[in-house]
Amino acid sequence: MLLAMLHEKEASGNRRVIRWGMWAAVLSYIAYGFLDYFLLPDTAMSSILTRTLVGVSFLTMIEICIRTGASQQLLHLVSATAIVTGGVAWLLVAVHSVHQVALSYFMVFGITFILGSNLFFNFRFLLSFIASATITVTFCVAIMQYLQIGLPGRIALTVFFVNSLVLSLYLSWRLGLERYHTFVHSLQAKIQEKVAIENGQKLHEIANTDPLTGLRNRRAIAREFMEMRKSWASGEQQIGVILADVDYFKRFNDRLGHQAGDDCLVQLAEAFSKTADRFGALAGRHGGEEFIFLCKVRDEEHLAEISEELCDVVKRLGIEHPDRGDGLHVITISVGASISRAETSLELSALLQEADRALYSSKFIGRATFTIFDPDNNDSDFSTQNLSVLLKEAQARDLVSTVYQPIKDMETGEITGFETLMRLCDFDGSVISPNVFIPEAERTGAIVELGYWVIERAVRDISALKSDGVISVNVSGIQLKAPGFPLRVAEIIAREGLPARRLALEITEGIDIFLESQALKSVEELRSFGVQIWLDDFGTGFAGLAWLREIEFDLVKIDKGFLQDCQSENGVLMLQDMVKLLHNRGVHVLVEGVESEEQLQLLERLEVNLAQGFWIGRPSPLESYEKAAAAEPATKKPVQARAKSKARAAAQRRAAAKVG
Ligand code: C2E
Ligand code: CA
Ligand code: CA
Repeated sequence: MLLAMLHEKEASGNRRVIRWGMWAAVLSYIAYGFLDYFLLPDTAMSSILTRTLVGVSFLTMIEICIRTGASQQLLHLVSATAIVTGGVAWLLVAVHSVHQVALSYFMVFGITFILGSNLFFNFRFLLSFIASATITVTFCVAIMQYLQIGLPGRIALTVFFVNSLVLSLYLSWRLGLERYHTFVHSLQAKIQEKVAIENGQKLHEIANTDPLTGLRNRRAIAREFMEMRKSWASGEQQIGVILADVDYFKRFNDRLGHQAGDDCLVQLAEAFSKTADRFGALAGRHGGEEFIFLCKVRDEEHLAEISEELCDVVKRLGIEHPDRGDGLHVITISVGASISRAETSLELSALLQEADRALYSSKFIGRATFTIFDPDNNDSDFSTQNLSVLLKEAQARDLVSTVYQPIKDMETGEITGFETLMRLCDFDGSVISPNVFIPEAERTGAIVELGYWVIERAVRDISALKSDGVISVNVSGIQLKAPGFPLRVAEIIAREGLPARRLALEITEGIDIFLESQALKSVEELRSFGVQIWLDDFGTGFAGLAWLREIEFDLVKIDKGFLQDCQSENGVLMLQDMVKLLHNRGVHVLVEGVESEEQLQLLERLEVNLAQGFWIGRPSPLESYEKAAAAEPATKKPVQARAKSKARAAAQRRAAAKVG
């Protein structure tokens, strides 16, 4: 089959070569008539005539074949016949010459020319063999039968001719083989290249698309945003970020099942994708029932137009929702959007946070609508009033909960700690982002009580896990300033019997701690109790370096933005410098936001102490860790393995002590 493919491939490129080869061969064949004239003058007239006749006839034949699109096989057959006929016809005339010695030399020249031509045309081996053998045999017979030179001369010529035949056949066979191998190798290379391209495309697709809806995932959206940002500085247009959340989706799922839920999301994704295309926007899935759009817009009005169209498109789909509980019976979305502003720096996280808050407003207005984030009118809107009511009742109505995100020790590879993250549910069960409710809780002061609740819950949960890791809890400046905060914390850990070093409080650069002497005092007091103090989101504020001078941190968490920037070489250098600086100051370094194996490997190379991020583990409720812990002893390990896990536990303790 491969051979057939090779012949087919050669057929397409060979026709021109055969045509011009034949022209060259025939013209030289006729031109060598002048040698007839000098060497064999007595038969020259006849042989020149023969040459011309044979040459012209075969050229005509070849031209006809080419013009009528004859197969390559036929072209080869005509060419081989031409060569044989040319040689034999000339010989039949020339043997009658009286100049027999000259003729014998001429025959040597003739056979070399003929066998060479045979090679030139790349005939298939069998044809080459028949043509070359016929010529050689004819010439040998002529030598033996007609040539009037001595016997040694005849023998020498015959041996030479036979040798030439063998050599030319060997060359023809080798050339054929070589062509075959080259063809097979090029075929293999092509196949490998195709597979590599396909694999690469597949990997790229997997890494950048949401498997359910086929839309871009968050990672792809973040990358697109970076691209947009590059052109934003120079362009006149602004960047708009739109978040769309499916209203009452949890109820839809509960009532109709997850398959119906998935089908609904796929249908929405298709509609979103088309609408986004119409507006030159990009659509992506942000997670769960939340979608995200990036667009270039002229102004807020333009952004509002797109947001409104997204809401309308979903309504027009008319997907039935049997259990909304608000009088409507179809699926709708709530939309929040935010637009880049010249006076603020352009970060996706900041725009998302604003869009999130606008989305929250849409939900409180009654859903199925859109809100554009208004930086000047944020506190007074209806939604924040409702949020503050929600926050007040959160604890009593069991709307607040905690999830835990694992922290990995890069040296041992073990999970040596967890960060506590607060979660808040709306009255209808939908989840509200901490980016929305934490600022409001801080504004109203609700964060103080909620904060105690979170610390207590976290301390109790880590004790229940029987893990010897560290538990970290985020605290805001408002909490640090609250009178008696350190004592209350000390009381909680004493009650649960947790060693103080195993609690870490994360404070962010966002608060201006030097202006808040009470907060600074609290930090010092907590440290004196043995509680760890971690600096969160390092690198996002301006105070970071000054803080490092004033406060002795047990650990510094480098903000995830720096790891995200590591796609460029400059980004890597920046992160490397930060890690070095922190290590020089003797602080442990944790890098947040690890979302891939490559990022984890980079952190290993940079000798970062700890890492955290979705790749290592998503924030999950306590139960999922309990289940994992319960599953471990169930898998009965052999004694040796148990000895190993003891060693691992020791390593874990050492690592925890290091964190501590
Ligand atoms: P944070 O302290 O920087 O928390 C990390 C945030 O990044 C969490 O978002 C977490 O879910 C997210 N995250 C973790 N790994 C990855 C990753 O690999 N990629 C990406 N893109 N994100 C990742 P979350 O839970 O939405 O919390 C947002 C912020 O809310 C927190 O930022 C923290 O500042 C605040 N917060 C959360 N819980 C509490 C709390 O109990 N008290 C206070 N005061 N603030 C809290
Ligand atoms: Ca944190
Ligand atoms: Ca952080």
